[in-house]
Amino acid sequence: MRAGATPIRELVEIDERRLLRRLDDLSQRGALEAGGIYRALYTPAWSSAMDLVAAWLKEAGILVRRYAVGNLWGRIEGSRGGRAIVTGSHIDTVRGGGALDGALGVVAGIEAVTSLWQTFGRPTRILECVAICEEEGSRFDTNFWGARAIADRLEPGEVDRARDAEGVTLAAAMRAAGLDPANAVNAARRDVDVFLELHIEQGPVLEEHGARLGVVSVVAGTAHLEVTVHGQPDHAGAMAMTRRRDALLGASAMTLAIADLALRMGQPAVATVGTIAVEPAQVNVVPDLVRFSVDARHTDAERRRELVTTIAEVCKTIGRERGLDVEVRTLRDRPPVALNARVADVLRRACAAAGVEALDVASGAGHDAQMLAAAAHTGMLFVPSIGGRSHCPEEATAAEDVVLGTRALATALRELAYTP
Ligand SMILES: [Zn+2]
Repeated sequence: MRAGATPIRELVEIDERRLLRRLDDLSQRGALEAGGIYRALYTPAWSSAMDLVAAWLKEAGILVRRYAVGNLWGRIEGSRGGRAIVTGSHIDTVRGGGALDGALGVVAGIEAVTSLWQTFGRPTRILECVAICEEEGSRFDTNFWGARAIADRLEPGEVDRARDAEGVTLAAAMRAAGLDPANAVNAARRDVDVFLELHIEQGPVLEEHGARLGVVSVVAGTAHLEVTVHGQPDHAGAMAMTRRRDALLGASAMTLAIADLALRMGQPAVATVGTIAVEPAQVNVVPDLVRFSVDARHTDAERRRELVTTIAEVCKTIGRERGLDVEVRTLRDRPPVALNARVADVLRRACAAAGVEALDVASGAGHDAQMLAAAAHTGMLFVPSIGGRSHCPEEATAAEDVVLGTRALATALRELAYTP
């Protein structure tokens, strides 16, 4: 990547009505009657969204390719070739998600590349936009499937091992969507120079600072723990309160203590107990087994390790005090990922060209960019989420911020792909 330190003078114009209309059109694909959207990997709603994206690219005269795991690429050849400049995000959503998570980066990426192509013609560098097939982990017990495939980080046997709630394997779902699972490894790209992702913030930081754009310096590392608490089943009427080994009471004390730990460590530490299962789950039996999940994050590797270790210790201490046996298992452990400083600088200058000083932010949420950082010089641009809300039907960003973010993205892409 080459980038000068001079200010970017010219802001790239985009078609804002087309951008907003397309975001709206995409939000109809997978719309749920109860509100929100669900576009799960390899489902008919997902295929229909991918078809729509492909149609937009074809309309602009951009070469469309869809292969391997189903990531959809729009490509403009550069006059000088070399490694590609790429922008994009994921097309899938959580169940009942909003219209912008992932979709913004897909639609804005197409808009930016289309506008550049129509205004400035052929770039010197290869310029591509991508709709990444899956990021959320909302259907299969895996996530970042699309970005890991690009970064050549799929796990051996993953297509046959990962299953959805109905027991359908990734491989079977791929076949049903017309893709060959044996081909998944061919999704890897070793020729990407820069990857830019525009995304909604999904938290309240930009809004709290009155900032309209944010440049991400680091994506928080995530640990997923599974805590199992063993107590003793007893009669809910006959067993005295003082003699019980109630696993649910223990798990409840642990849940409160975990939140308190993250709170005392301070921002950006976060810890969440998101699922809990109780056995035997009968109204008149003292619970003897509880299993719950913990999601713990921090942008600093050292602090994150400290948070995870302390959570495990606190659970064990509470267990001992209450006569409960506690097991803590690490299911996933992803370190924080620092994004590329030079790409961040290009993004900051593009924001300045748009008349806005970007705020340096850390991302608490996980993103495709953190996986692609292993394969390319990677940068992320955030626009504010109203009320910090996301992963819900209320997820929204002011239209003028959506437009501003897309302009800044297009301006950064021009700087990178139209080098003299
Ligand atoms: Zn997302």
